[in-house]
Formats: sequence, structure tokens, C-alpha cells
Amino acid sequence: MQHIAAILSKENFTKEDIIELLKAEGDDKLHLFEKALDVKQKNVQNKVYFRGLIEFSNICSKDCLYCGIRKSNPAVRRYNLSDDEILDAARFAYESDYASIVLQSGELSGKQFTKRISKLLDQIMKLSDNKLRVTLSCGEQSAETYKEWFDHGATRYLLRIESSNRDLYYKLHPHDDKHSFDTRISCLQAIKSIGYQTGTGVMIGLPFQTLEEMANDLLWMKSIEIDMVGMGPYLEHVDTPLYQFRNDLLPVVTRFDLTLKMIAILRIMMKNINIAASTALQSIDKLGREKAIKIGANIIMPNITPGQYRDDYRLYDNKPCTDENPEDCKSCLEIRIALANNDIAYGEWGDSIHYKQS
Ligand code: SAH
Repeated sequence: MQHIAAILSKENFTKEDIIELLKAEGDDKLHLFEKALDVKQKNVQNKVYFRGLIEFSNICSKDCLYCGIRKSNPAVRRYNLSDDEILDAARFAYESDYASIVLQSGELSGKQFTKRISKLLDQIMKLSDNKLRVTLSCGEQSAETYKEWFDHGATRYLLRIESSNRDLYYKLHPHDDKHSFDTRISCLQAIKSIGYQTGTGVMIGLPFQTLEEMANDLLWMKSIEIDMVGMGPYLEHVDTPLYQFRNDLLPVVTRFDLTLKMIAILRIMMKNINIAASTALQSIDKLGREKAIKIGANIIMPNITPGQYRDDYRLYDNKPCTDENPEDCKSCLEIRIALANNDIAYGEWGDSIHYKQS
């Protein structure tokens, strides 16, 4: 306890400090979570901001070894929402006072895709009187494409690094031009320099991953001054190459616990960023997202993809809520967030304070 208290009172954590915190159990762990909650309350309040998540297509040109919608998985039924379906979902978010949406998809590139997103952005700005904030999460694109989307009204971009360790990255991705670690880093740099609120994140409990690499992920996020983070437990998917290592993984409850600790530590390290309570947490523990909210997270992404497609955006096995509708998600979350003693900030953008102050 003494030892953890000494670490928690420091201004800056070293890699060794973070590893100690990731190992904390019992009272030590509670102490970490209490400190994170205190930092959250003082810096971003007891508030949760909604980002309505529209998973608009699962068509993907990449072959990430962990991901259920990878190009080489023939078992996936591919879909692509129509523009009207996307706009209806955006309108639902706007009328429900969510204030922000996320457009996420598998990774496609090219002129046609770029123009489609630009046009959708124009239409979303129009239907919401410029009041909906839009986050894009459409993978690696050229700097010109990122700029074009920014000019059409997108203000936030999410691109998880997945692991900031190059060697581990290449154990999770094919080693080719389409899956280059350096390209991913330079995409993040381009996104940031264009002026987006920039988000990244990692998976936790990956095969081969060590506590040291997790600690370095957090230090890396701080070093690049990220504005938003989404981190979730790695969950195996039966139709992916990484599934072969399923017997070497940490138990899911340990991956869950490590994710909560990563969120808590990051909240202490980066006091005023936005941190998401990832959906993957909820597939391990029904109250997973609420638990994350209680120890530092302040963003939830209610799924507003039309119900009939949700089952096909299956990144990992046992993805929760695939049989629900947007309205069900809303009322379910209202109860859950109240249980976590937080208020839903309806109608507020909840821009990253870190971004505004930088
Ligand atoms: N094409 C976009 C969106 C990818 S899906 C992009 O490349 O950014 C969003 C996130 O889901 C990924 O970044 C990854 O971190 C997560 N994900 C994919 N497969 C997963 C799995 N098996 N377990 C946990 N998270 C996974």
C-alpha cells in the first residue's frame, strides 16, 4: 500500500511505476481506482458524453490477424449501408440529443470512397444545422483525404495504433506494405497536424503482449499528446489467424481487469483527455462500461447502426447488443450510467479539453 501510495503521489510515472500499478491487487488496486476517479471528477466532471456509433460498412481491404471482418474471412456477410440509412441514423442521434456521432467502417480507399464520405458529411451538417460533431474511424487514408474530410466538417478522427510496439504490431498484422507500422504512425501525425481532435488506442491482453509493452503504450500516448483514447480487451474471433493462440491468452477476466487499470492509469497521466468505455468491455462483464466510467472513462459510444446489420460487424466473438435497436440502447444506457453516478451530457459536444487547451 505504502509503495503504491508513493507512486500515485508522483507527478509523472515511469515505465516501472506503471508496471507496478498494472500489477496492483486488493487495496492497492482500489487506491489506484479512487485516485483515477478523483482526477476524473476534478478535470472532466462526473459526466458521460455520447457518440452515436454508425458501423456503416464491414467491407475491408485489410487482413489484420485479430479482426473478424478481415478481408480474407469468407464467412462474413458483407454490407454497406445506403446513404439514406446512414443519414437516418445520424438524424436519430441528432434528435436524441447525442450531439456527436462516429462513422466507422472497414478500411476502403480511393476517390469514390473519399467523395462518398465528403458528401455524407455535407448532408449530416445540413440535417443538423452544423450542430452534430462527427468523428471518423475509417482507417488509413492519404493526408489529402483526411484534409478533405476535415474541410467537410469532420472534427475528430480515431485510428488505434493497436500496439505501439513495432515487433508486436507485426505479430498482429501481415508484414507487408498494406499493414505498415510506419504508415500508421504517419497517418496519426497527419491527422493531428490537419487539426483534428486525434484519437488512438490499443488492445489489451493480446497474444505475446507484456506488461512492459502496455506501460509503453501509455507513455507513448502521452508523448504524442493524444486527445482521445479508446482501449479495449482483445477478444478472440474464431475465424482469424490469431485464434490459434487462444490457449496462451490471459483469462478474459484478467484482460478485463487490466483494461480497467490501463484506463485508470491513463486518466491520472492525461487528466483532461476523453477516454472511451469500449464496447468490448461489455462483452466480458455486463456492467463493464459502467465500471470503466467509475474509474476514469467519460465517453460511451451507443450503437446506432440499424439492428439488422449489427451482427455482421463482428470484430470479435460475443459482441454485445447485436440484437438491439438504437432506442433500446438509449434507455438501457440511461439506467446504467445513473447506476455509475454519472450524468449523461445530452446536447453537449464534449470536445476534448486537452485539445482545446493545446
Ligand atoms: N477500419 C478502422 C476501424 C477498425 S474496427 C480502422 O482501421 O481504424 C475498430 C477497432 O476494433 C480496431 O481498431 C481494433 O482495435 C478493434 N478490434 C478489432 N478486432 C478486435 C478483436 N478481435 N478484439 C478486440 N478489439 C478488436
